[in-house]
Amino acid sequence: MNLTNKVALITGAGSGIGRQIALTYSESGAAVGVADLNIDTAGQTAKDIIKAGGQAIPLTVDVTDEQQVEQGTQELVNEFGKIDILLSNAGIQHIDPIISLDYSDWRKVVAVHLDGAFLTSRAAMRHMIDLKTGGCILLMGSVHSKLASPLKAPYVSAKHGLLGLCRSIAKEGAEHNIHSNVICPGFVKTPLVEKQIPQQARELNISEEEVVKNIMLKDTVDGEFTTTQDVADTALFLAAFPNKALTGQSIIVSHGWAME
Ligand code: NAD
Repeated sequence: MNLTNKVALITGAGSGIGRQIALTYSESGAAVGVADLNIDTAGQTAKDIIKAGGQAIPLTVDVTDEQQVEQGTQELVNEFGKIDILLSNAGIQHIDPIISLDYSDWRKVVAVHLDGAFLTSRAAMRHMIDLKTGGCILLMGSVHSKLASPLKAPYVSAKHGLLGLCRSIAKEGAEHNIHSNVICPGFVKTPLVEKQIPQQARELNISEEEVVKNIMLKDTVDGEFTTTQDVADTALFLAAFPNKALTGQSIIVSHGWAME
């Protein structure tokens, strides 16, 4: 599971899962482009990597902005010479029942997850093909790529859509030695989840403790949250996997919350 001499671009790497993947990839030898909407948090992750002896650059990238995605990817290639791994991870959540969901909120969530994954994958694939390096494209799905929960229609829809994008990349990328997979985590206690606990409690008229116990962790095999490190270890395994035997797949890492 060695990423020595590899160059990785990770979006949403200023916080939560993306940050942990950036640190883990760096510990395994990769140079990392730490991309985020929030340049302060991206800068902090990059600083922490460099302080620990790794190589990283912070990149200001809103994944829904075509120009910023192109520029950020080019900056990474200018700095480190290539891009071997993309982890399209940036994400947001929105809690609302369908009948009171604003169209603008629907579009915002779908744009970050699905448009963002398309724009970053396209930019990475172009460099991988031009430079004849091949590469690995990982998309951050969710257990909600496989099943639905109430109040999360745009998130569930976008996360399902990532399976289609991944399979398309796997088919079109194969001749260029590009493989693609989706990681599907269960609930991980990051700011994205912390925020939805009180929101769900309000919408469902139950306590915050009940949201955690009866919704988030009820179906796990051990009553545990998935950790950022659980997800980072899965991302490392997939990035280090040497060939296209594993492509077009989706792997659930959820302490058994979802099984298939
Ligand atoms: P987080 O809120 O801790 O981090 C998300 C990061 O994405 C933030 O740094 C934020 O600034 C960045 N971001 C948001 N919009 C962006 C944009 N337009 N362009 C660039 N960056 C942007 O959340 P997290 O829990 O670490 O989530 C990371 C990914 O993991 C998301 O795709 C999320 O859907 C997925 N996921 C999370 C969980 C969970 O339980 N936390 C479960 C399954 C999947």
